[in-house]
Amino acid sequence: MDEEVIFHIGIDDIDTPYGGCTTHYASLLLAETIKSRDIELIDYPNLIRLNPGVPWKTRGNGGVALRFHTKSYDKALDLFEYAISFLDDYVREYGRWREHSQPSIILYYGEVNELIEWFSRKALYDLIPLDLLYRVLDKIRDNTKYYVTKGKGRGLIGGLASIGYRMLDTDYTYELLAYRSLEYLGTERRVEWRTIREMDNLYSEETILNYDYEEDKPLIIPHGPDPVLLGIRGEGPNVLIKAFNKLIIHEPVPLRIIYRTNQHTDAHLKVIPDLSEAYIYRSVRVRVKVSSKPHRVIGGHVIFKATDGFREIDVAVYEPTGHFRDIVEKLEVGDEIEVMGVIRPHSSRHGKTLNLEKLHVIRVNPIVVLRNPLCPRCGKRMKSMGRNKGFKCPKCGFKSRDLRKIKQIVKRDLRPGWYEPPPRVFKHLMKPIKRFGKEKKYFPRTYNPKNFIWVNNRLIL
Ligand code: ATP
Repeated sequence: MDEEVIFHIGIDDIDTPYGGCTTHYASLLLAETIKSRDIELIDYPNLIRLNPGVPWKTRGNGGVALRFHTKSYDKALDLFEYAISFLDDYVREYGRWREHSQPSIILYYGEVNELIEWFSRKALYDLIPLDLLYRVLDKIRDNTKYYVTKGKGRGLIGGLASIGYRMLDTDYTYELLAYRSLEYLGTERRVEWRTIREMDNLYSEETILNYDYEEDKPLIIPHGPDPVLLGIRGEGPNVLIKAFNKLIIHEPVPLRIIYRTNQHTDAHLKVIPDLSEAYIYRSVRVRVKVSSKPHRVIGGHVIFKATDGFREIDVAVYEPTGHFRDIVEKLEVGDEIEVMGVIRPHSSRHGKTLNLEKLHVIRVNPIVVLRNPLCPRCGKRMKSMGRNKGFKCPKCGFKSRDLRKIKQIVKRDLRPGWYEPPPRVFKHLMKPIKRFGKEKKYFPRTYNPKNFIWVNNRLIL
């Protein structure tokens, strides 16, 4: 059967704390196959971040979707089979595998349908049980093939969800990922920090979170033994190429690739009408009122309660968020706010808790204090002579039983608006306030990616 087909390959759970990584596998696979297989990409490779509340993620809960166009159904199958054997090799090469990782890969032919779109939106903010995955897979079985290296196939959740998140009418950004040579894994990354600051200086308007000036550390360089040398994020592919070219790097860069991604779009925040839908492990955005004054607890975290009028939830702002806690501490009971973040389960020490990742102060409640009246004779503030016994002026001695306390509105040191933590605690999906207004409005049906993959610093496509 030869016909024009679109097909998608979804990949997930190839991450280990020791070496491997889903994007690395997917990038190597593309570098190996893209020229030789007579297939055409209809999009940049997609890096899709999913619900950050998932308890079993390794790091950033990311899956990858590769999307192609080919004249032959067999060519799609060929590529899928090659991807499977490549996955087995990759898993062997990057051994010391995480006990519970379940590397998985899934092939889907045809246009993404509404069911898959629904599944993938849900995977962005909810916890997907395996039985839901298999019910969806059953419904699309005629268009699907999948392979799981081991385990029950949990990696297929991220694989299928990545396929379903097309970003054809939702905001997106790009990331240029540069990978290391095998022999450098686990060693310090040899990138001149000075050049990262210079790059940031030139391109900060169109790139995202390059450098933490408070801590004097780059944000584009990950820690740990994974194969990513660095990742520059931004609004478009061209600025990422220019930004990368500004960096001075003292180690080989065998592979470099640009992904289109939902990072920094807030796509994970499910807008819920009230706290009845604040399910555990869900990422939410909800409008509430402050119902207890924020206080700092041992460890430096700031905690307060918020209510929707019927239910209450704890809101936590953790120590590493630094000055963000100072803002939150200015909240007062009655303030109207929107809170955004993941819902964590109860523990012995706290109730169901929203981990605050961004705060929108909608209305600050005026604080009214009752103060003693001023002396009508000399203007000095009077002293109370006891409950219902009136006031006496400490300066001129004037006494009165008729004067009453006066209401005074205290000026609030907090304005309505948006507040966020410092860049170093940003997770992949969190949209910086600086991106507000930069959301994508133009959505082609297909992309024709060019200038996006380099092997040994040579552009291959
Ligand atoms: P990295 O950021 O380095 O890519 P990771 O955090 O993506 O690592 P994984 O090893 O991919 O870690 O683990 C995440 C696992 O959770 C995968 O098996 C994925 O399929 C699954 N998963 C993703 N989203 C959901 C969800 N919403 N509900 C249930 N499982 C999910």
